[in-house]
Amino acid sequence: MSLLLATRSAHKAREIGQILAPLDLEVITLADLGIEPAPEEDVIEVHDTFAANALAKARYFAARLGRVTLADDSGLRVDALDGDPGVHTKRFSGRTDLQGQALDDANNALLLDRLSGVAEEERGARYVCCAAVAWPDGRSLGAAGTVRGRIATEPRGTGGFGYDPLFHVPRLGARFAEVSPEAKNAISHRSRAFRALAAALAASPWPVTGA
Ligand code: IMP
Repeated sequence: MSLLLATRSAHKAREIGQILAPLDLEVITLADLGIEPAPEEDVIEVHDTFAANALAKARYFAARLGRVTLADDSGLRVDALDGDPGVHTKRFSGRTDLQGQALDDANNALLLDRLSGVAEEERGARYVCCAAVAWPDGRSLGAAGTVRGRIATEPRGTGGFGYDPLFHVPRLGARFAEVSPEAKNAISHRSRAFRALAAALAASPWPVTGA
């Protein structure tokens, strides 16, 4: 079974590849196919739920490229911020001029600022991931995964990406950025969503090849 993974994030592509590796799914990426970004990609993820954004992305690339397509949308929901930044997690800082590590640093700095003075027991948060698969004819399946943690008061660790240096997971006794990819993938929101999606796909009567 060969599926296109529609993400332009190298971090997410690596994690999803690792998560799906033990399953019988061959995944190719936009980079593998040499698909250049199109201007309309900027307005795919404009919905107010992770599920709608994941589905929109999977459907867009399935229709554009005629391939069965996997996509996800993910982010952070912080209790003390009433569930923000939510679907705006990637651009929380508002810094449209930054990318990569510089953008992550700006986002993390703003998060620490917003939580300044908030007590440890009130710094609860969860990562959310919605994963979707879409067929070129418009059919689709979706699944969600979450993991709870706490926003630490200073960054630590060099693994993972995004908010991982601040995301402390009590059951690991560490930030996601401090543990191995295997330890993160064992419990992460993304692995939970993609494993649930893979199970739904395996149970689906829909043909994947030739769809
Ligand atoms: P999107 O799913 O591409 O819209 O991006 C979601 C954003 O949420 C990322 O750019 C990260 O800032 C953050 N995020 C999602 N999942 C993770 C994770 O596993 N670790 C750290 N940050 C994450």
